[in-house]
Amino acid sequence: MKLEEFQAKRLYADFGIPVTEGILITDHAHAKAAAEKVGLPVVVKAQVQAGGRGKAGGVKLARTHAEVVEISESILGMTIKDLLVERVLIDPAVAIAGEYYIGITVDRRKKLPVLMASAAGGVDIEKVAAETPEKIIFHPINPERGLRPFEAKQVAFKLFTDKKKALAAAAIMVKLWCCYRDTDASLAEINPLVELEDGSILAIDAKVVLDDSALYRHPDLEKLRIATPNEEKELAAKAMGLSYVQLDGEIGCMVNGAGLAMATMDVIKHLGGTPANFLDIGGSSSSEKVVYAMKLLVSDANVKAIFINVFGGITRCDDVARGLVQALEQINTDLPFVVRLTGTNEEEGRKILADAGISATSDMTGGARRAIALAAGEEAVE
Ligand code: GDP
Ligand code: MN
Repeated sequence: MKLEEFQAKRLYADFGIPVTEGILITDHAHAKAAAEKVGLPVVVKAQVQAGGRGKAGGVKLARTHAEVVEISESILGMTIKDLLVERVLIDPAVAIAGEYYIGITVDRRKKLPVLMASAAGGVDIEKVAAETPEKIIFHPINPERGLRPFEAKQVAFKLFTDKKKALAAAAIMVKLWCCYRDTDASLAEINPLVELEDGSILAIDAKVVLDDSALYRHPDLEKLRIATPNEEKELAAKAMGLSYVQLDGEIGCMVNGAGLAMATMDVIKHLGGTPANFLDIGGSSSSEKVVYAMKLLVSDANVKAIFINVFGGITRCDDVARGLVQALEQINTDLPFVVRLTGTNEEEGRKILADAGISATSDMTGGARRAIALAAGEEAVE
């Protein structure tokens, strides 16, 4: 679960990290009042769960009350990386003397948390990491001992020569670690951490990703969830007992079992197609689940063909077949689909489908190839 900047900043403030304190608004009619409280000049900042807002025109400086209103009106309602901007943060503008990057995440190779720090902060740390990785300091953290003050100081003195600034940055790194650890985050990032003209150090941007699997331990944080439309779909599917992850390809996949669902996406990719989603309808698939899954796939405008890949173990092919027939009676769609059915109660399943005029293959690769051809608008060759 991703936090938006204003949420992440509040969390950082709770851990004692100095941050700019702005006011969140959802309507430009409140922009002037917010700017009066915050004090001009202000920065109007789009709140969406995506980076690169500055480059997309979602972060703008406003010097007058008229500008705050005008800029808020233009940013509210814009889309950044397909996400609609419904909230903006009216944040105090600060006089920046230097921009730095600090972040903590998991180093999968070392299987440890890692503190990353760079004097090349500001926008696009991914670009720095890809093109000039030597500009980023990586400091692994022993999860039992945590990030100790002397380690943070070693890193901070590589960024700042001035002792006061280095110590201030080191204190922020330790607090960032405490926040990362105590919230079960998978990422806690400050980009940029800025040095002001008066020499003080503070966070003007904040990004936090929380580990979904640990959210049960943090009911307060779970309440902060602002679901994007895709996540709404995923959460609704979860409530139905399905695991659904939306992707951006063309082949809608309906599969029973997580392993087979992964393998199905791999096969589609391998054969040159693009999966539109991961969808595991689960081990014991009732007809209702299949109907729901079919509706999910059909509601995705990117989907050009559907590949239903069922290997009956605990799942019975006849249940899936009944669900499919019901789904097709209920849903009005012209989307082509391919069914691969094999395993428990295969014969019964095939008969149910055949009675409804649907043929099924037992060959997974052939089925995937056919679905890709259908998505491309070709008449599929068997
Ligand atoms: P991001 O593009 O989504 O990472 O959004 P940021 O909050 O990091 O803002 C992008 C850039 O805008 C920062 O790197 C700063 O250079 C600039 N910026 C943001 N807030 C301020 C501010 O208060 N004063 C000044 N001068 N620049 C700011
Ligand atoms: Mn940023």
